[in-house]
Amino acid sequence: MSKKEFPGNMISNYGDEIPGSQVRTAPSKRERKLKSEESRGNSGNGCDSKPGNHHRQSRYTRLQTMDETSQVHDLVIVGAGLAGLAIAAAMHKIGVNSVILEQSSTLRSTGAALTLWSNAWRVLDALGVGDQLRRMHPLITGIRMRNMQGELLKGFQLEESPGGHTETRCVERKILAQTLASVLPKGTIRFDSRVVSIARESESGPFQLALSNGSLVRSKILIGADGVNSVVAKWMGLAPARYAGYMGIRGLAEYQEEHSHEFALTQYIGSGTRIGILPTSRTRVFWFLVYNKAHPDAKYTDPKVVKEEMMGHLKGFPEVLRDMLDRTPMETLSRAPIMDRWNLPGRAPVVQNCVSLAGDAFHPMTPNLGQGGCCAMEDSIALARTLGPVLVHGGNPNPRVISEALEEYAAERNRRTLVVTVISFILGFLLMIAFRPFVYLRDNYLLPKFFTRTTFLSQTLYDPGQLPDTKTVAK
Ligand SMILES: Cc1cc2nc3c(=O)[nH]c(=O)nc-3n(C[C@H](O)[C@H](O)[C@H](O)COP(=O)(O)OP(=O)(O)OC[C@H]3O[C@@H](n4cnc5c(N)ncnc54)[C@H](O)[C@@H]3O)c2cc1C
Repeated sequence: MSKKEFPGNMISNYGDEIPGSQVRTAPSKRERKLKSEESRGNSGNGCDSKPGNHHRQSRYTRLQTMDETSQVHDLVIVGAGLAGLAIAAAMHKIGVNSVILEQSSTLRSTGAALTLWSNAWRVLDALGVGDQLRRMHPLITGIRMRNMQGELLKGFQLEESPGGHTETRCVERKILAQTLASVLPKGTIRFDSRVVSIARESESGPFQLALSNGSLVRSKILIGADGVNSVVAKWMGLAPARYAGYMGIRGLAEYQEEHSHEFALTQYIGSGTRIGILPTSRTRVFWFLVYNKAHPDAKYTDPKVVKEEMMGHLKGFPEVLRDMLDRTPMETLSRAPIMDRWNLPGRAPVVQNCVSLAGDAFHPMTPNLGQGGCCAMEDSIALARTLGPVLVHGGNPNPRVISEALEEYAAERNRRTLVVTVISFILGFLLMIAFRPFVYLRDNYLLPKFFTRTTFLSQTLYDPGQLPDTKTVAK
């Protein structure tokens, strides 16, 4: 099998290729040689010899471990973010078991909260958790665009949106993740399981995932839902996501009493700086700050440093925002570079033989439309509809049939998400303008005249459809 036929045959977490990833089950003469090399301190491949790599196994050791790991799962998902959890929930609902490998030791809630629009609520309803989440998160009723001084540039109510009322709620990530996880069978999520390398036993044979905890997991189908810096996407040969030129800081303010913020998405737009606020409940308010920066800062940093930086960016904005920051517990603060990737058809290998991607790993997008997480969850319905029937039928599905189902899934999702990614990027370009004469033009002409409900809300009308009928699927 040539490298061209199967790009990135085996690539470590650091992106370096490991030659010869064909795997056999019993130690051969060559493997015995490797073993003796190992005992002389030469582990013999790029991944294992990387300094600081905790997963310092030689290929020989790995093969030995695989002997002990005879189980081959049908479906393994890397990452228990919104995409991974929603996929496992959708599959479970139609009777397909899956395993999620998550690097963290608990469900992550980085980013504090997020806006979920109608398209996401359709997914959550299909997964059977919509009403549970609705009870905890009131409706957001309007959108307000204000300038730095707080003057209204444009505003509208969401019930006046094209195509009918746009259901919008700002949902706490922790609650969303826990709710999705609660519908999964026990043991679906394996925590402390960071995937450090991926190999294939043969061209269409099982995937072999080496984990940071030293174990190996084998699977017929692999879905990378491991976020914007996905190791699966890297292994498949996709280009890394591109920095959009601005950073995002997020937090969740807590009030002792009921806060007085309007249940609206309010954005204060400055010159190369933008602040958004949305209540998640009567006592909690999610906020985000986006600011231009030529080069991205480190993703996570000391919350105290993030807070100081945030204070610097608040100069000139209404005082109420400073008060909100003071009410924000440090542990809810996070900072991330804003990234995207345009998967142009034929240019991005988002699906290969029995492997594909979901969520930010597939279609990282800027957050200007608040659609990244919504689209990540939409993926779950499309995947259950295309791949689900192949797996529900049971037996030993043919890799060709699996690949055809994944091709259908990836094509459908790319058609949808490429449009959202591009619109979101353009909107970000407009909202992040820093050159004063253009800021004036934007605030006085472009936003009031051309920022319509349709521009902002058309993407929320998307209907991801229903899960396949289990009775039909099981026939
Ligand atoms: C400032 C900002 C505001 C946003 N606002 C919104 C919004 O309002 N609405 C909206 O819908 N979206 C919003 N988004 C986008 C949204 O946060 C993402 O699109 C969404 O979280 C993607 O989910 P995911 O599951 O694909 O990835 P992630 O949430 O990144 O989850 C990936 C998971 O994979 C795990 N993982 C990574 N590598 C490995 C590995 N090697 N092995 C095992 N596990 C691994 C991680 O620990 C993580 O749990 C916003 C984003 C930003 C930056």
